[in-house]
Amino acid sequence: MAVNGSGDGHKRLPVYDESELTYEHPLYGAMLSVPGLSVGVTSIDAILNWGVMNSLWVFPMATSCCGIELMAAAASRVDLDRMGTIVRATPRQAEVMVIAGTITVKMAPRVKALWDQMPEPKWAIAMGSCAISGDFYRNLYAVVPGIDTVLPVDVYVPGCPPNPEALMHGLLRLKEKVALRRAGKLPPRDDRPDRLQVTKPSVARFLDPARDPAIDEQQVESALHATDTDRSDEPAAGEERASAEPPEPIASSQPSDLEALLRDEFGVAETAPKDGAPVVAVERHVALARRLRGMGYEIFTYVVATHFPEKTGKAPAPERFELAYAVRSVGKGSKVASWRLKLAPGEAAPSLVGVYAGADWQEREQWDLVGVRFAGHPDLRRIMMPENWDGHPLRKDYPADKACPPWR
Ligand code: SF4
Repeated sequence: MAVNGSGDGHKRLPVYDESELTYEHPLYGAMLSVPGLSVGVTSIDAILNWGVMNSLWVFPMATSCCGIELMAAAASRVDLDRMGTIVRATPRQAEVMVIAGTITVKMAPRVKALWDQMPEPKWAIAMGSCAISGDFYRNLYAVVPGIDTVLPVDVYVPGCPPNPEALMHGLLRLKEKVALRRAGKLPPRDDRPDRLQVTKPSVARFLDPARDPAIDEQQVESALHATDTDRSDEPAAGEERASAEPPEPIASSQPSDLEALLRDEFGVAETAPKDGAPVVAVERHVALARRLRGMGYEIFTYVVATHFPEKTGKAPAPERFELAYAVRSVGKGSKVASWRLKLAPGEAAPSLVGVYAGADWQEREQWDLVGVRFAGHPDLRRIMMPENWDGHPLRKDYPADKACPPWR
């Protein structure tokens, strides 16, 4: 048994190395034990292999965009069925798992549980660069850097996404491997790519010590001095700018009734600040939500938290959170009312669950990802990350590449 990853406070789960497993069909044992019948083993072997090769039933482990290509492969234009391959929506009737898409740390144990339910002999195809290595997301806290950290892979089908023909080619490669089976022995698995090579980003990223600092400076400069003339919708030389009217907004983002309410009842002086929605005192926040609900703002649209980490250096500032809220009315002329809360260090935000039922899971999400506490929430527990996750991944001080054994 091999265990991946290193401990950093997570519960370590065992990952079995299945690469060396062999499979023996019960028929072989019976034939070998009957005198004289052993000569038939070779022919029976060939017949069994032929049968398996031409009826590879696929279990679709489709989690994102590559899954669409997998579906296309099974549809009439490409028609996997002509190879004897059909897709079964149960692991117990399938022998090839096609992992098509990004696998997250939360999904990985489910994939493993499904893989374990597939009967031997079984094979796995990693379809697309996300399944092979995690691709763009491989250094992201929530993503498994390749499904071969979870289960043994027989064939890698590269691409982003690979098209249905590429998947067919992968299945043909798999048939070659199945043909190599003799006397119940599984063919050797493909060597999995070296994990360190796979997880190391190929391009040094912003603020990466390996990256040339001059590139960072250049990027910051160009972002700071970007003007309207940098926009891609600017007409080319000689062309006239189209005089199209701007589209009519669906909803007003700062309705006059909200401005009046904030000014007259909630003592907010700056009802239309330049840097975002108006800031409301934390202790008046629930009362404001109740008033807005009474005025017809019936939908709780969102609460989004931002973490401002403690500043060290010339101008020290303590860590704090800022929350942005939006509620909206429905029907013609729908309006959106938005406001902000600024929390002092260690302060909890009053929960809006008592006013808007929809605030329940949105507040849980902000607690889970950013670590904001909501006073009075009836069930403040994780909703996006696994239950045993350590920390809040969207805090600014959270390492994006944090390990999560045994999955990444
Ligand atoms: S490899 Fe590309 S197409 Fe496939 S799941 Fe990843 S991002 Fe989507």
